[in-house]
This record gives sequence, C-alpha cells and structure tokens, in this order.
Amino acid sequence: MGTCRMGEREEKDQLGPEGEGFMVLMKNFEIERLMLVSMGIGMAKAAFDDAVNYANEREQFGQPIGKFQLIQEKITDMAIKIENMQNMVLKAAWKKQNGESVQLDSALAKRYCAQASFEVIDEAMQIMGGLGYTQECRISRMWRDVRHLRIAGGTDEIMVHIAGRKILKDYKARG
Ligand SMILES: Cc1cc2nc3c(=O)[nH]c(=O)nc-3n(C[C@H](O)[C@H](O)[C@H](O)COP(=O)(O)OP(=O)(O)OC[C@H]3O[C@@H](n4cnc5c(N)ncnc54)[C@H](O)[C@@H]3O)c2cc1C
Repeated sequence: MGTCRMGEREEKDQLGPEGEGFMVLMKNFEIERLMLVSMGIGMAKAAFDDAVNYANEREQFGQPIGKFQLIQEKITDMAIKIENMQNMVLKAAWKKQNGESVQLDSALAKRYCAQASFEVIDEAMQIMGGLGYTQECRISRMWRDVRHLRIAGGTDEIMVHIAGRKILKDYKARG
C-alpha cells in the first residue's frame, strides 16, 4: 500500500494504491456484474420450474397446455436462454479463477443475461396466464426484481460501450 494523507488508522484500511481507486472500482465491477447476473439466472430457473410444472398441470380445451406447440416453443427458447446464460457466467468465472481478464466476458454476460433472464421470466408469466401476474405467484415478484439487472451494476447501454470498444481495440491490436 502507498502512503496517503489520511491518518494511520485509515491508511491500513486502504483498498489499493493511492490514486488508483477508480481502477480498483472498475476491476471490482467485473466480478459484481457476474454476481448480479447469477442472481438473474437463479430467478430465471425458478420461474422456468414453475412455468413447466404449470404447463404439465393446467388443462385447457381438454388437455394440458404443455401439449400445445406454442407453449412448447416458449419452454424450448427459455431453456436455451438459461443454458446460454449459465455457460457464459461459468466460462467467465473459470477465466477469472485462472487469472485471465474478464473485462469483456463480464460485460458480454451482463448485457446478455440481464435481458435474457427478464425474457425467461416474462415468458414464464405468459405461460401461467392471469395467475402469473398475481401476487399469489412468485413470478410476478421476480418479473419486477430481475428488471433492475438492466440498470444496476452498469446499464445495458454502458455494457455495449465497454464490450464494443474492447472488441474493436483487440482487433486493431491484432493488425
Ligand atoms: C435496484 C438498483 C440497485 C442499485 N444499487 C446500487 C448500488 O448498490 N450502488 C451504487 O453505487 N449504485 C446502485 N444503483 C445505481 C445504478 O448503478 C445506476 O442507476 C446506473 O448506473 C445508471 O445510472 P443512472 O440511474 O444515473 O442513469 P443515467 O446515467 O442517467 O442513465 C439514464 C439512461 O441513459 C443511458 N446512458 C447514460 N450514459 C450513456 C452513454 N454514454 N451512452 C449511451 N447511453 C447512456 C443509460 O444507459 C440509461 O439508459 C442501483 C440501481 C438500481 C435500479
């Protein structure tokens, strides 16, 4: 730790070199973003469980709604998004654990998962119909809660800024 103008007691609590607080914060954001989207994946999986179970049980027109291909299509696309989200986060976590940079990975994961987790929960609500919208059902709570992931920890738009700039820079460096 570098010296600083603060008292000795505060100096030992310093989190990084003096004058580099912004970079410390930015590095921390890379992890925070992966943690945030992990919350989104958890909520998406819970909503998926509820919706699939409901599709097997709820009967309309003499059969479970899960027999309708339009419902099967939703379930299939939700499963693909959950798989994609998990793979992105697990890959980034693996890279971080192995000392690799996750600056790009965390921005891509945040951008994709914040939207995809909301889309999965939104479709889960659709499968559950009117019941999904009520406070009787946890999906309605998750529908609101997960929406904050597109804002907190860096908005969707800022993730595009980080990722787009980094990809272009990397390609330029390759020549
Ligand atoms: C539930 C929740 C929890 C939060 N928790 C925390 C927390 O624990 N700690 C903390 O410090 N903050 C927290 N925040 C704040 C969060 O980080 C900010 O809301 C977020 O960074 C956006 O800042 P802003 O609200 O000032 O929006 P603004 O910066 O005013 O942005 C408004 C809109 O303009 C867009 N925009 C801004 N700049 C650009 C640009 N250069 N290019 C394109 N579009 C742009 C944004 O993407 C957004 O769509 C939390 C927010 C929420 C909703």
